[in-house]
Amino acid sequence: MTEHVLDDASFAALKEELLRKRSEIMALSTGTRPLPASVDVNSRQGDLADQASGNNEVHIQLKLKQTDAKILQAIEEALFRMEKGTYGICRDCGETIAPARLQAIPWTRVCITCKEKQNS
Ligand SMILES: [Zn+2]
Repeated sequence: MTEHVLDDASFAALKEELLRKRSEIMALSTGTRPLPASVDVNSRQGDLADQASGNNEVHIQLKLKQTDAKILQAIEEALFRMEKGTYGICRDCGETIAPARLQAIPWTRVCITCKEKQNS
């Protein structure tokens, strides 16, 4: 008897969620418009406050992109583990991950105990 972490219905629902999230991130990353390159540079000269807020905006966008890339990577790994039959098993300790945690973050790699260890 194989030890299944999830029943078939939950497994299918999580896979669906992973695929949905993946296409969502892919649509976002391909749909992003390039930042306007130096529009009206001369008229902005000396306007430090405006420049500062502009820089912050770029910084936030970069940060979001990094997070998306990380999630995308984790989703790919989760889908791979689903195919291998190791989905829902903690990468660090090998214990099963609580279904509630998988439902909250379907692309998670580790159980809550290991996650807390990482954060501390
Ligand atoms: Zn663990």
